[in-house]
Amino acid sequence: MKQGGSRVDFTSERIKTLPPYIFSQFQQKKKVLEAKGMDIIDLGIGAPDLPTPNFIIEELKEAVLNPENHRYSSYNGCVEFREAVAHFYKTYYGVDLDPETEVLTLIGSKEGIANLIHAVINPGENVLVPDPGYPVYRSAVHIAGGNSVSLPLDPDNQYIPLYDQVSEKDLANTKLMFLNYPGNPTAATVELDTFVEAITFAKQHQIAVAHDSAYNLVTFDGYKAPSILQVPGSKEIAVEFGSLSKSFNMTGWRIGYVVGNKDLIKAISVVKSNTDTSQFLPIQKAGAKALYSDLSTLEENNSTYKERMEKMIEALQAMNIRVERPRGTFFIWAKVPDGLSSMEFAEKMLEEAGVIITPGTAFGPAGEGYFRISLSVQTERLQEAVNRMKQLHFEGAK
Ligand SMILES: *Cc1c(COP(=O)(O)O)cnc(C)c1O
Repeated sequence: MKQGGSRVDFTSERIKTLPPYIFSQFQQKKKVLEAKGMDIIDLGIGAPDLPTPNFIIEELKEAVLNPENHRYSSYNGCVEFREAVAHFYKTYYGVDLDPETEVLTLIGSKEGIANLIHAVINPGENVLVPDPGYPVYRSAVHIAGGNSVSLPLDPDNQYIPLYDQVSEKDLANTKLMFLNYPGNPTAATVELDTFVEAITFAKQHQIAVAHDSAYNLVTFDGYKAPSILQVPGSKEIAVEFGSLSKSFNMTGWRIGYVVGNKDLIKAISVVKSNTDTSQFLPIQKAGAKALYSDLSTLEENNSTYKERMEKMIEALQAMNIRVERPRGTFFIWAKVPDGLSSMEFAEKMLEEAGVIITPGTAFGPAGEGYFRISLSVQTERLQEAVNRMKQLHFEGAK
């Protein structure tokens, strides 16, 4: 309904009722403190600071010089990129994909996550979202007119889902669920049995599964993250999102994919063909080059993150903060010192150490009592943050 009045507000209810992103509050405070001359180190950033590997840039340069690449891509993405995704799944996971029907190019995986929700959810239907989890699942469900239901994760057991904590009533109205391993913000990693359990649960309750594998290649210590499509029969009910953003330091390029169940992929492509016309061809071709590569650039990245992680873990231990050593992502997820809320701890870190961290509550109610540190800042800045953090004192920390 349109409202009268001197100044018309055209914003929809769904946009007006979208909860504000907690993190923007800190960005504002950061500006105020910086204006006062304070040096702020931002460990809240969720994107790699490292550059895109050169061989990918070279491929882009070559592709951009060919005028044929200046035209529209086909709606589902160019065949070269879709074949490269299928090649990667075959060689890395041993999973067969038909590039025609089981692979779709995305303009970054966030776009696909939002469009999947539009493609499957009718107003009022439920989507299970991991809590704590990537905030986009919840906000995209809200914008699509769906209803988010928290899927609690077990902090004492690798943050695997606690399905029996979702009520039968909520389940009856649930059509879709999201999973994300290696996880943002928890850095949780799992073995294939977690996905076997997820597929079994989803089939039993007729729920489509969307696994977000944005950090599939950001792993350490010989750990290899599984694909949900390695579970036999998973293609009947599941899709997996992938991104080149985190693994190949390509956040700004906007290139990712969704693979798996044909019907879900078809439904996403219907939304997309009425919304966008896929990604710029040279970007898709450069992305294909990355996926055909021997993945050796990942080792360099991952060893940089690993080195930073060791430094930060040492600092946290010196502060008597309990932390588990992650096997994936460039995040550390840890408990705030006793007696403080996530927000109080984040404020203390900013005001007394000039270090921005993300309060756990930015990732859902279950994030209370935790905070996330990003390791995607230059090593010397991270070292400076570590030095400052070691000076802080917490009452009651143990
Ligand atoms: C960064 C991130 C994404 C989005 O990646 P793009 O492909 O750049 O859109 C998706 N999921 C999670 C969990 C992320 O951290």
